[in-house]
Amino acid sequence: MEELEKIRSEINRVDEAILEALAARRTLSRRVIEAKDRSGAPIRDAAREEMLLSDLISKGRGRGLDAHLVTRVFQEIIDDSVRSQQLHLQGYAQSDLKRVVFQGIEGAYGDLAARKYFAPYLDRTFFEGVPGLRQVIGAVEDGDADYALVPVENTAAGSINEVYDLLSVSQLSIVGEEVLRIEHCLLGLPEAQLAGIRRIYSHPQALAECVKFVARLPDCQAIPWPDAAMAVRKVGEDRDPSVAAVGSEEAGRLYGLKVLQRNIEDQPHNFTRFLVLARKPAKVDRRIPCKTSLIMATSHEEGSLLKALSILYEHGINLLKLESRPIPGMPFQYLFYLDFEGNAAEERVAGALEKLHSATTSMKFLGSYPMQQRPRTAPRIETLAAGGPREEGEQTEPIPEKKEKSGLRLVGRDARPEDTVIAVGGARIGGDGFVVIGGPCAVESREQILQCARFVKECGGQLLRGGCFKPRTSPYSFQGLGFEALEMLAEAGREYDLPVVTEVLSPSDVEPVARLADILQIGARNMQNFSLLAEVGRSNRPVLLKRGMMSTLDEFLNAAEYIMAGGNHRVILCERGIRTFETATRNTLDLGSIPILRRMTHLPILVDPSHAAGRRDLVIPLALAARAVGPHGLIVEMHPDPDHAMSDGPQSLHFHEFADLMSRLYGG
Ligand code: PEP
Ligand code: MN
Repeated sequence: MEELEKIRSEINRVDEAILEALAARRTLSRRVIEAKDRSGAPIRDAAREEMLLSDLISKGRGRGLDAHLVTRVFQEIIDDSVRSQQLHLQGYAQSDLKRVVFQGIEGAYGDLAARKYFAPYLDRTFFEGVPGLRQVIGAVEDGDADYALVPVENTAAGSINEVYDLLSVSQLSIVGEEVLRIEHCLLGLPEAQLAGIRRIYSHPQALAECVKFVARLPDCQAIPWPDAAMAVRKVGEDRDPSVAAVGSEEAGRLYGLKVLQRNIEDQPHNFTRFLVLARKPAKVDRRIPCKTSLIMATSHEEGSLLKALSILYEHGINLLKLESRPIPGMPFQYLFYLDFEGNAAEERVAGALEKLHSATTSMKFLGSYPMQQRPRTAPRIETLAAGGPREEGEQTEPIPEKKEKSGLRLVGRDARPEDTVIAVGGARIGGDGFVVIGGPCAVESREQILQCARFVKECGGQLLRGGCFKPRTSPYSFQGLGFEALEMLAEAGREYDLPVVTEVLSPSDVEPVARLADILQIGARNMQNFSLLAEVGRSNRPVLLKRGMMSTLDEFLNAAEYIMAGGNHRVILCERGIRTFETATRNTLDLGSIPILRRMTHLPILVDPSHAAGRRDLVIPLALAARAVGPHGLIVEMHPDPDHAMSDGPQSLHFHEFADLMSRLYGG
């Protein structure tokens, strides 16, 4: 017992040292900003940040810390200094105490978003909740507050129309934005038990986002309340252990409730975007990546919207969001809300704005402000794969020299001469990149898939695979854990920031699987299952199509054409070995198909050495051979304990073998 106390007090000391180091780092980073401000040096130096992180990862590894932990911690630290820089350059640092208003009471999501946005200057900011969105905006318009935080869209519920309508009549400008991950918790009194909860209060939107969770609780009723944080406060005041509220963990802490269950939202990727409004538009330093927002109306004539939008195109401006709202009192006429990349202080944006003025019947500039979805510093794959930064060796990718006529309308090179690049999460599949998808044949347990995800990430793998529904040759073999496995796979992907790939077997599973999987796999046995191809053709998720084990390249590409003809143009092909008379390997890896396919189609092509070989000892040699013929990546099976794997153990790499493969692929 005494020993435990001693260790705990040592931990406390270490934690304090971490805090002190963080505070010291923040002070130094403020000095850097001031120096940069004077010298006009770039705000962010991606190359420096990347090198810094790679160096920290190597040093961390020397101390037994994994790359994932080091990356996460330092991404937060770098993000904090970028925030300070932005606020500093907007003149925030020099000014006195600021008042920020949000809708609701303390602990509301608006409050959390405001605190996140102003985090580097909390000591100079005063936060206040007011009842409605109109009052939030009114408080700043009337000069009672300096900044307003209003929610503008939620990834589950869509745009918040009231805010859009208020923006059209308000005199405020948008000076910033904040994106908050919404993690709903079920909160109850300290003595409450999950099984004993009979009534749950929250804002109708929050309840709607947790319908499935609430439905699973026996004899439990959901009761709408004006505001989530108010519901949390009410449960705290009622002192009834059979009632609970849906709200943030922070709100629970504020009003003395405990978390009965965390992350109860049905859709795991739930984010709300907030706008920061002020009386005067922000003058954002041109070195900071910006967004510009405006509202416009176009004449009621053919092509008038198209003409207005093509002005952006002509000025090389990327449109980020287009929203329309009815104009009050003018039936079937609309206001268009545009968000696009760029800063009004830039010439090309100023030029586009001027042209837009004459191409529209009305235009209101809402502001240029720092983009919140800024790229996070990530270590180079080489660093992860090889245990330290190295020089990149010279590599020659076989470039399609001559196009081959295919007669395929959508899949063929004729339809699209340039390579298709499919972006999934942070990974880009196709073009000049080379990605590795790693993971077990099948998801067997939460622990197993988390272990695999961690290791794949640690070695520089960009995506995670894991079968949930397994197409087995024998009906008596393990068939996969189904949707339960899918939840585990999605959790592992979220935890380690890896997009996930899983096979879908039946048309009726496509929609529910697509909710959680980032890429839908069509297995070799289903390559010509046309009703399944049609269904994934209707999905919004990219499809990884495996070549049938007895299919010609023409049949393979026609299967891809089916998916594209259904409207889904994000198809990734995968060569996984075909059946020949040879029995020494499970299949024969047809490597000649890769350069041919690259000429015939613009779609990305992967190689699966695992299913081709069927034997672990051949996976690395085949993977390296495959690399030489120019695919866009590999999909490889690995397992923490292949000898006890529930499927495809003999071909699954041990973790150390996977690490070896990664280091040979990327380590130069
Ligand atoms: C798999 O990837 O787990 C799989 C079953 O592959 P294939 O369809 O290529 O046999
Ligand atoms: Mn398999």
